[in-house]
Amino acid sequence: MSVAPSTSAGIDSPATLSPADPGYEAAVAAFNTTVTPRPALVVEARSPDDVVAAVRRAAAEGLAVTVQATGHGLVDDLAGSLLVSTRHLDTVRVDPATATAVVGGGATWKQVIAAAAPHGLMPICGSSSGVGVAGFLLGGGHGPLSREFGVGSDHLRRVRIVTADGVERDVDADRDPELFAALRGGKAGFGVVTELEVGLVPVTRLYAGGVFFPGEAAREILPAWRDWVTTLPDEASSSIALLRLPPDPSLPPPLQGRFVVHLRFTTTASAEEGAAMLAPVRSLAEPIADLVAEMPAAGLDAVHSDPTDPMPVWDGSALLSDLPDAALEALLAVAGPGVETPLIMAELRALGGAIDRGRGGPDSVAGRGAAFALYSLAPMFPPVAGVAPAVAKGVVDALAPWAVGALPNFRGADHGGVLGPLWDDAVFARLLEVARRYDPEGVFRRSGIRLV
Ligand SMILES: Cc1cc2nc3c(=O)[nH]c(=O)nc-3n(C[C@H](O)[C@H](O)[C@H](O)COP(=O)(O)OP(=O)(O)OC[C@H]3O[C@@H](n4cnc5c(N)ncnc54)[C@H](O)[C@@H]3O)c2cc1C
Repeated sequence: MSVAPSTSAGIDSPATLSPADPGYEAAVAAFNTTVTPRPALVVEARSPDDVVAAVRRAAAEGLAVTVQATGHGLVDDLAGSLLVSTRHLDTVRVDPATATAVVGGGATWKQVIAAAAPHGLMPICGSSSGVGVAGFLLGGGHGPLSREFGVGSDHLRRVRIVTADGVERDVDADRDPELFAALRGGKAGFGVVTELEVGLVPVTRLYAGGVFFPGEAAREILPAWRDWVTTLPDEASSSIALLRLPPDPSLPPPLQGRFVVHLRFTTTASAEEGAAMLAPVRSLAEPIADLVAEMPAAGLDAVHSDPTDPMPVWDGSALLSDLPDAALEALLAVAGPGVETPLIMAELRALGGAIDRGRGGPDSVAGRGAAFALYSLAPMFPPVAGVAPAVAKGVVDALAPWAVGALPNFRGADHGGVLGPLWDDAVFARLLEVARRYDPEGVFRRSGIRLV
């Protein structure tokens, strides 16, 4: 296989870089630094035409095509592929009259939130605004506002995508309903998204944040939290994490190096109503810090306080049908107080509400109807890197008896990018059929995140 890089330094023209070129490392750099991407070529697209040219070049040279915006979801080294980096396709235009945003294929939620907030609008994003809009929405996308408003892709109106034939298509529910339904949750294998149009919701403020309890109280808190979330109305959501925090001086001193239970709460209800909802769990133990308060919706990141700097991690995930006492015992046995483990986080997100209902027409969202999402995270740095994959997987294995699949956005590194049948049989068959129709040679199914 021969690849001839044609490096261009012009800011308006795409840089096409091979591993020997200066700038290659920066162009392929990802948020998850566990894997070092090693594509044969990376094209830093500056326009949809650059994406078209890159996909055509890959076809001509027999290369697989992979896509990266932020690298939050990097799972393999993309070796032998032509990587289209979309991070410069980051324009965001908000139309307050229609409450929509038109977003470039490499934009992040942070950019959308900043553009929407002055108009009193908010997108349905996830726990971290550093995540890319396209990658998130292609996988459905769950966030703290989803129990009230649905998953992110419920608000997707239109997608521009460059398919394997090197054609840029404008896709919506009327113009190409089957491809559009696949893009609403089908995750990968259909092309490179260059632009998306998403609906926004009129949310300006929240009563939200996290309560940090001593980890030693986990045995009492977890069952109470499990029972309490079933009482919440759809306009409230919660998650809980067993966190082993590093001795990081940027953390508040009482949290540095501590094992804690982090209970997160978000509601669009008034502060008074929100405080009444939270009251039964707020004092389950003496909090180390109680940060739940009235806040601007644009500050949603503060609810989870996910890491914002690139780091090497290994993750695992599952959807759970329910969380009986035996499941909580199993979780505590691998991640609870007294367990010596390098695990950073074992997290449970309560689902339900509008997540289960769907809106906006046919889609491919996996996991509607599951009660909880489980997520585990272990550090891939010395001296524990060797055991981190087994540690993250151990949490998922412990809860396997209650597992009912996994979310495509949280598939985890264990699967090397292969999503497999995360959808029910009929939806998965339809996704494969659409993927094969638009990509008969499988250029989007050889590397990176892929259906099979
Ligand atoms: C800290 C953190 C918090 C997260 N929180 C949530 C959350 O609350 N809810 C949730 O649902 N998910 C969450 N995720 C998962 C996240 O949604 C997925 O990893 C998502 O794929 C990241 O997209 P990205 O563009 O940022 O990452 P990238 O690694 O750049 O992209 C990941 C994949 O998305 C696809 N993709 C990205 N851009 C395009 C494009 N333009 N065209 C075609 N395909 C594209 C590709 O398959 C690519 O391999 C979180 C991840 C992290 C690391």
